[in-house]
Formats: sequence, structure tokens, C-alpha cells
Amino acid sequence: MTEKLFYKDSFMQEFTATVISCTEDKKGWAVVLDQTAFYPEGGGQPCDHGTMSFGDTVANIVDVRDKNDVVTHYSDIEIPAGTQIYGKIDWDRRFDFMQQHTGEHIFSGVVNSMFGYNNFGFHLSEKDNVVDFDGPLAKEDIKAIMDKCNEQVWANNPVTASYPENVKELEYRSKKELQGDIRIVVAGDADICACCGTHTDTTSQAGPIVALNFQAYKGGTRISIACGKRAVEYLKNRNDDCYNISHQLSVPVETITDAVAARMDEIGRLKFALANAKRQLIAVWAEKAVATDGVCIMIKDELASNEIQQLTSLLAEKRETAVVLSSQAEGNPKICIASSVKDTNKLGRHISATLGGKGGGKPGVYQGFVEKAADENTLAELVKSFG
Ligand SMILES: [Zn+2]
Repeated sequence: MTEKLFYKDSFMQEFTATVISCTEDKKGWAVVLDQTAFYPEGGGQPCDHGTMSFGDTVANIVDVRDKNDVVTHYSDIEIPAGTQIYGKIDWDRRFDFMQQHTGEHIFSGVVNSMFGYNNFGFHLSEKDNVVDFDGPLAKEDIKAIMDKCNEQVWANNPVTASYPENVKELEYRSKKELQGDIRIVVAGDADICACCGTHTDTTSQAGPIVALNFQAYKGGTRISIACGKRAVEYLKNRNDDCYNISHQLSVPVETITDAVAARMDEIGRLKFALANAKRQLIAVWAEKAVATDGVCIMIKDELASNEIQQLTSLLAEKRETAVVLSSQAEGNPKICIASSVKDTNKLGRHISATLGGKGGGKPGVYQGFVEKAADENTLAELVKSFG
């Protein structure tokens, strides 16, 4: 059994200990100490990373696990049994998890008291802090929850952990039926919950608390949150985004939502006008096109899939066979073939045998792409050689 120093003091960053055993397995050197401040993975909270030093040697600890109250540290080098080590936790990583974890308690407790919903899922990683609730929440609800959470932060209430004797009489949140000694974590006025993780000492150390986004999930709501430094980083980045958009649109930052909506309307109108103009242009191209031996070939820039098909069909109405190639700024040139006299799928395959690419379609119309660009003469030769 390893003495768990992280439960005595969750802010302990450095400690000394004696190596009880060190064996090699497929995950690395498995080191067991008499006592440790390294938190093992558990209760949704990822494990600590850090180092163990002895003499001039520094071992990196990359994983920590708890099995039957024996904590195993995975080291990148062997640390012989009996060695006195000096352990140092990667404090940025641990404090971030403590902020996320404590913030999640406050958030889940506030949701529970305001809406009566339970948290049925919690996923914490270096990037994400995701909580699932068993009831629907709207945008306005989440704003009200955020207000309440940050009031809890500003109240600067203690966060405590204990093993109360009257645990059976207590009302506390828990995701599963628990047995034996139950560790109860109280997060200010916001939450009472059974939990084995590490937490900040006060609610203020976990804040601010921000909800990033949410979605309907399994009949309830999945919400991503960020707490403490993560919340500040998130807000700094979104602030940058807002100022960048404001700069690009040359409008005050307070009006960017209206300005973006106005630009989107404008883009919609321009797209509609452009599609009309292209339709007319395509009709003019088709009218003026010249066929040689019944075959009409055209090469155009940047036609959308429906436009290249529109042009090819119009051309084929008056000529026996039409082939249109449209070069693209990105990706391979598109090809469309329409014919009243030739097997268009076979002609398409004949062309792609030389130019690469592929396609298909209903009888009389072939659509696809070619890998190599070609000029009108090359295409005409290919059609001619098809017969
Ligand atoms: Zn907890």
C-alpha cells in the first residue's frame, strides 16, 4: 500500500520517498514507492507526469496507475529498489487538472441545484473538459449557469475532502454505487460529491468558469467547459478572433455580429447574380460554339459541376458530341461528355486511358475528372482516335 501524499496536500509539488520495487514490463520500468505525491489516473482525472531524481540521474515519469492502493509509476529508466528519490510533479499539468476538476464540480453542482439534472459523463484531458447532463439545456440556461458558477468562484469558499461517518445520511452526487470508505468532496456551496480526484483548496482558485459550446446528447446535453487558466486562454483567443474580424470588416468590435450577417446577405445576393450571369454566358458560348465533324470541344476555367453539365448538354443539343474540360484552381480538371451518337462512358474511359482520372454517368452523359490538363487539339485527337 502506497501512502498517498496527494490526499494530505493536493498542492504538494515535491517530495522524497524510497523505492520499494522496480520491475520492467511492456509499459516501461514500474516503480513502487513507500509514499508518493504523483496522482494516478482515476475519477476522470488523468495521471500526473513529472520526474524522480537520485544523484545526478533524472527519470521521467510518463504514467501513474493505482491498483488496490498500490501506486505504480512508469519511469523511462530503472530506479533500483532501496533508492531514495526526490519526486517533482509537472505542476502546470496537475494544477490545470485541479482547476478543471474543481470547476467541473462547481458546474455540475450548479446545474443540479438549478435544473435537477445529473452529470452522467465526464471527460477530462489536456485539451477537453466535457460534461454530460441528463436533461435539455438552452443557450440562455447555460448563461445563467455560468453566472452562478462564477458567483461561487468569487465567494472564495473552501473546497474540502473528508470521509464522513454519517455518509449514508448525506445527500451527495455520485455516478455509481459506492462501498467502503467514501471520500466526499464539498465545493463551496455548489456541490457535494463522492470523488477520488485532486482539487483546489478554494472555489476561487478554480475560476473563472466558462462554457465553450454545447450540443444535444443522449436525450440530455453535452457541454464543454474551461476553468481557470484554460478559461482565460480561451477568452484571450476569442478576443483576438473578434478583433481580427473587426479589423477585416472595418467595423467596431461591438458590431461584428450584425456586420457578418450583412456580409453573408451580400454574398448570397452576389452568388445569385453570378449564377444568373453565368447561365446567360453559358447560353451564349453554346450558341456560338463551332463543331468539327459533329464534335464540339470547349475548355473553360472554374465551372461548377452543374455549370459544366449545363454547357455540355446545351452544346450536345445541336452537335452530335460535346466534350467540355474545366480547369480548376484546386484539384484536377473536370470533364463532361454528352453525345447522341457515341457511347459516352466508353469515350470517357478512352480519354482517361491517356489523361488519367475517372468518371461515369447515365447513358449519353459522362462526368468525371482527368489527372492531366489537355488543350483542345489533344482532346480532339483523342475523340477522333475513339472513332
Ligand atoms: Zn473531484
